[in-house]
Amino acid sequence: QNYLISRLHAASVGQETRNFARIPQRASMTFGELFAGAERMAGALVGCGVQPGDRVAVQVDKTIEAIQLYLGTVMAGGVFLPLNTAYTTPEVAYFLGDATPRVVVCDPAKADAIAEVAGDARILTLDAKGRGSLEEAIVGRGGFTPVSREADDLAAILYTSGTTGRSKGAMLSHKNLASNSETLRDYWQFTKSDVLIHALPIFHTHGLFVATNVALLAGASTEFLSKFDADQILEAMPRATALMGVPTFYTRLLDDPRLDRARAANMRLFISGSAPLLVDTHEKWEERTGHRILERYGMTETNMSTSNPYEGERRAGTVGFPLPGVEARIRNDGQEVPTGDIGVLEVRGDNVFQGYWQMPEKTAEELLPDGWFITGDLSKFDEDGYVTIVGRAKDLVITGGFNVYPKEIESLIDDMEGVLESAVIGVPHPDFGEAVVAVVVADGAELSEKGILAGLAGQLAKFKQPKTVIVLPELPRNTMGKVQKKALREDYAALFA
Ligand code: ATP
Ligand code: MG
Repeated sequence: QNYLISRLHAASVGQETRNFARIPQRASMTFGELFAGAERMAGALVGCGVQPGDRVAVQVDKTIEAIQLYLGTVMAGGVFLPLNTAYTTPEVAYFLGDATPRVVVCDPAKADAIAEVAGDARILTLDAKGRGSLEEAIVGRGGFTPVSREADDLAAILYTSGTTGRSKGAMLSHKNLASNSETLRDYWQFTKSDVLIHALPIFHTHGLFVATNVALLAGASTEFLSKFDADQILEAMPRATALMGVPTFYTRLLDDPRLDRARAANMRLFISGSAPLLVDTHEKWEERTGHRILERYGMTETNMSTSNPYEGERRAGTVGFPLPGVEARIRNDGQEVPTGDIGVLEVRGDNVFQGYWQMPEKTAEELLPDGWFITGDLSKFDEDGYVTIVGRAKDLVITGGFNVYPKEIESLIDDMEGVLESAVIGVPHPDFGEAVVAVVVADGAELSEKGILAGLAGQLAKFKQPKTVIVLPELPRNTMGKVQKKALREDYAALFA
């Protein structure tokens, strides 16, 4: 038995002719075709020498073939290792050197450059249309009996997004993935009747595991889009029942006048995660569609850890409750903090990864021997048990010896007239150690530093007030919609030098 594959396959056994993916400009794909193709790929990978535990590194555009490659890798007993398509070849070189894969699958246009940095790995290609040497390698191959794998064997290594520093490879076992997706399927009530709009990238935990695995485990079908495209999402919405997105999906859809109640009438669930959803977005979405977005929280290392309830109050600005089977506690200096106080969130459960690939020291620092994982996210519990993520411990500003939580200041600025959004950072300062700096994006009209400082003056203790306010046309974000505070800190490092 292959632990993960047997579970992902179970919901659609005997229903091979049902549709798994409707794909713009391409033929749809049934569950039967999905798994048959994955088996052929598994055969091809084994033909390339992939043995149980070998890494298969993949940097390709999002296609249904790339999903089959994920399934095929796991069927072959391999470890799937997807890489962000935005990474340049020198960046890919770091990951390949670190992970020493047996096979690398990349876009044909990059094959020569990648071959130079891929060591002994075998190179196969797959393009945005599903074509390439991988396709040739599967010609004539038949069924494949998945290689037997146990609960604790590795199924994937996913590199973290690199928001706070160099990306780390999170080792995820068959059980980590299966247990979390089963929990989410049940918690969010996914069934065969669902049609999920799948528009997230599949090199990240959100699109690869949350979206793909939940759909497969439920036997749900997908509107399979190669990327975020407001036209395509709005076109698919009347046929769909659920959307999983990052906050920027929701803000961009709100910008489109075609989004309204009628278009969302068939939808039962909008889910957001990977970055904080502004309360304002939450409220505007409800006004326009009648639906309250369900926000959840997770990390590459832990899969999903908390979620707002499916039934019951979805509280804006919070990430809900620890999921069934996930324990959560908030500590400072080894002591649990009282309800309402801020500390570092720690989680434990079958969702928590096996450690960082080739980083035993980092693993030992963050993954405690009794199974608790220190997320590095500052958070608090409210009286009703809802968790709020306050920001990252690494983004905490310490100025003149005082702790300043950026979110507190960002929330006040975001509420001001004419402000779209903001990011508060700490930059080096000769007297204070760090100085609070606010980076603000205007909502159309002009914004002045003076106006913002005046707006904060009565509301914040002096030490929390920004020393400088910088107005930018937009905040730097990565593909997952995460604000890149590290880049802002670098840009303004010399402000007080
Ligand atoms: P790196 O670990 O390399 O610095 P990263 O932490 O951004 O990068 P991911 O694993 O993709 O890499 O992201 C996990 C982080 O995303 C969480 O630790 C948390 O800070 C943030 N996050 C995820 N969901 C939410 C949410 N709903 N609200 C607020 N923050 C969220
Ligand atoms: Mg992280």
